[in-house]
Amino acid sequence: MLIAICKECGARMETMAGLKVLCANCNMYCDVVIDDPARVLMPTRLTAEDGHKFLLNGEYKIQTYYPNEGYCGCGECFECTMENGMKEEIDMEVPVPWTMIKDIYQRVVEFEKSKKNK
Ligand SMILES: [Zn+2]
Ligand SMILES: [Zn+2]
Repeated sequence: MLIAICKECGARMETMAGLKVLCANCNMYCDVVIDDPARVLMPTRLTAEDGHKFLLNGEYKIQTYYPNEGYCGCGECFECTMENGMKEEIDMEVPVPWTMIKDIYQRVVEFEKSKKNK
């Protein structure tokens, strides 16, 4: 048994399958959405208008390392011997760009669409 939600009144009822179910509340065959705990309704794209950018932008970061141009490496000078002194590499956190987040999301949407069309 699946749980169907009436699109008209929001009533929940059991169903075997199908997109139309006799809704006791509306007293007619109503369009329903199947309430699958493994799935939620998702928009087809992420947008700033819907608050997705505010939610995700800057939220994920990648740790990157790049060579320290000023690194000495002699092991004797002040810079090299001081605690927490110069390092051969500088690490930096780079936020995952908003455009990339959208691209990843879009890829999943297209993938789900392609499954549905089969
Ligand atoms: Zn209903
Ligand atoms: Zn040095």
